Amino acid sequence: MKSYRVGQYEITPLFDGPLPSSLEKIPDLSHRAEAERLVSAVGPHALILEVYAFLVRGEGQTILIDTGTGNLKGPALGKVSNELQRLGVEPSAVTAILMTHLHGDHYGGLIGEDGPAFINAKLFIHEKEAAFFYDVAEADMPERGRKILAPVRDVLKLYEGKIQIVGTEEVFAGINALPAPGHSYGHTCWHIRSQGQSMLALGDLIHISYIHLKAPYIAMEYDLDPKQALGSRLRILNWVADEDILIAGAHLPSPGVGKIKRDGNCFAFEAQ
Ligand SMILES: [Zn+2]
Repeated sequence: MKSYRVGQYEITPLFDGPLPSSLEKIPDLSHRAEAERLVSAVGPHALILEVYAFLVRGEGQTILIDTGTGNLKGPALGKVSNELQRLGVEPSAVTAILMTHLHGDHYGGLIGEDGPAFINAKLFIHEKEAAFFYDVAEADMPERGRKILAPVRDVLKLYEGKIQIVGTEEVFAGINALPAPGHSYGHTCWHIRSQGQSMLALGDLIHISYIHLKAPYIAMEYDLDPKQALGSRLRILNWVADEDILIAGAHLPSPGVGKIKRDGNCFAFEAQ
């Protein structure tokens, strides 16, 4: 399995499986037509998303960034646990899990057969994401939020007493959340810096790479605040392109790690 070194940390993408998406998930019809043109230039595989979680080892920690789908999306996915096994990493050896946001394809792997899948791990959640699921009255939530409220609260209950709500402070040496709200209200990237090197785990900043790098303004139905999502996307894509920062995306093409390059007015993904 391919790994990447960022100073003291070794980062390994864990492939969870292929997740089919659909143009129907683009509510704006003119955007949908534009996306259709972009997809037809690539081929139908453009709509099959990779799902990745990332293993980060170093500084005495065994950290996961997201956990894949677990049992939530059918037997073709949920392979993060097999990938950990292949690497010889016992679930009980995982010390921390950094969540980019609380959607099923990211938290599904937290659920074990009979309790939490990672019995010794602390769960790190950005304060805005936690506030959405703990503090917002159900009546004040957008419909999409209300739909996922009960399953998310069930998962969080599994980790009761081990949940760490964070802002942008360092959670481990050189690792901190970098908020990128919009897809969810508390969606966050995770920045890893060590010995002058760095990597940014993007979460769902880019959803369908063949569409969103070319037309970042195209929103999906699960973007809770599309305007804010676009702002976050442009700000961070410009930054990682300018600074030549290595990125790791939950739904980027294999191997999920690479660089963002400028391509005229838009962007391109260069796998590494
Ligand atoms: Zn996702």
